[in-house]
Amino acid sequence: MQTLRASKCGLSTAQLPSSILDVIESLTKAGYEAYIVGGGVRDSMLGLKPKDFDAVTNATPSQVKEVFGRRCRIIGRRFELAHVYAGRELIEVATFRAPPKKAVTSASGMILRDNNWGTIEQDFARRDFSINAMYYQPHKGIVLDFCNAVDDIKNKTLRLLGDPLLRFEEDPVRMLRTLRFAAKLNFSIAPEILQVFQPDLARLLGDVSPHRLYDESQKLFTMGHLERVLDMLIEFGVWKQLFADIPAQLSPFMRRAAKNTDQRIQIGKTINPAFFYAVMLWEPFLQRCEFYQGRGINPTEARAQAGLDVLKRQATRTIIPRFAETFIREVWEMQSRLLNPKPQQIEALAGHARFRAGFDFMLLREKSGDETTQGMAVWWDAYQNMSMDEKERAISAYNRQRAKSRRKAAAEVEQDKSPSTQIEPLVKETESNGRRSRKPRDSQSRNRTPDRTRGAHSQSNPDFADKNAVNTDHPILKRKRVQRDLSQVIFGPTQ
Ligand code: ATP
Ligand code: MG
Repeated sequence: MQTLRASKCGLSTAQLPSSILDVIESLTKAGYEAYIVGGGVRDSMLGLKPKDFDAVTNATPSQVKEVFGRRCRIIGRRFELAHVYAGRELIEVATFRAPPKKAVTSASGMILRDNNWGTIEQDFARRDFSINAMYYQPHKGIVLDFCNAVDDIKNKTLRLLGDPLLRFEEDPVRMLRTLRFAAKLNFSIAPEILQVFQPDLARLLGDVSPHRLYDESQKLFTMGHLERVLDMLIEFGVWKQLFADIPAQLSPFMRRAAKNTDQRIQIGKTINPAFFYAVMLWEPFLQRCEFYQGRGINPTEARAQAGLDVLKRQATRTIIPRFAETFIREVWEMQSRLLNPKPQQIEALAGHARFRAGFDFMLLREKSGDETTQGMAVWWDAYQNMSMDEKERAISAYNRQRAKSRRKAAAEVEQDKSPSTQIEPLVKETESNGRRSRKPRDSQSRNRTPDRTRGAHSQSNPDFADKNAVNTDHPILKRKRVQRDLSQVIFGPTQ
């Protein structure tokens, strides 16, 4: 272990927000050791703006609570942590962790319960990458470096602590973290990691809960280097583990949308991570629409059902929260409305809450060479910048054009009976409510559901069958609420 002078590493308290300084100081005054660790130290040393600052201490979560009182909340089960509110910010305060006990790891070596407090040396060994394992004590002006991490910072190398294979088996999410940090920091991945990080190993991600994978995918989408990381997801065989039905190939639309996301982040614009899911799942959605229309289902109904199907299948990999799901389906539904708007609804459509996202989506499609938008993205682009008079003229011209093409291809165009200027809801909430409606809370149904889920797995997938046979009351199996086996996902009306 070497103790470095913080100033020599380019660190100073002036760069730190008062919230983290306050937390470290209060813990130190109460007689505990406390450090800043992780991305806050790493990014500051690299001259980047850290996303957040995490603290680590030898105080247990309940001792942290004693120090901060009502400003502190203890969270987590697998990973108990203290959340301390400092001003308007929230600082995550972790306690030094010792190696996990054997009884709480899964059959594949994954850590399931992890609240074994330890020393700083043990805590260090539990961290993932050398560059994430530097302990900065701002008041003393020192950095504790247990593995010459400072050289990895200088050489821009991402190095896992310990045996890479073991560390990936312990927590497969570290594979995603490897790609995220390599892409974000533009670091090279150490050869010993590359040696084991093969597509076969990526299959371990199948054991990770879809909730955690969703959280991780959000980080991948929003770190500002999405385009770079997407190529890496394909190269390392991770893509297939994250996306159920998306061929492992970047379409021009995806690439353009990824670039656009990165640019927005760079100039400080907000992004909705669900938007990129809408992009990724657009092709599968269209194919599913075609499938239903081919069976004689009207286009509106086909789109509604296709949206539900595609999101349901994706949820076997990464859970998509309800709000994100509604957003995605609305963006997709907007595509039809923007393509073929009823003239009397054009102005209302332009003021719709989902217009901006739907329009951005269509513009990206059009700019990436999708001709099925029929130039309407450019039309809407111009429309938004027109005066009222110009808008009226544009709508009349559009109306004439539309009437002409409707006459020409009446059969191909959807029915347009209502003269109303009111826009129907993009997504009928009843559909998604129905889809997720909870089972009655009687004891019978509570008992039945998990059994049926396991039965389905064991019939179709020998991997699941084996695991269940070995240890059916394993905590991770008990928690599993999503069917991960695509062949078991029911299609068609599900209400
Ligand atoms: P950023 O916050 O910029 O995404 P970070 O490195 O701070 O990056 P966090 O997820 O905030 O990442 O985690 C904080 C620290 O906790 C990490 O730097 C690392 O030391 C440790 N850590 C996080 N996840 C893992 C993991 N899966 N395995 C081992 N250590 C981890
Ligand atoms: Mg962090």
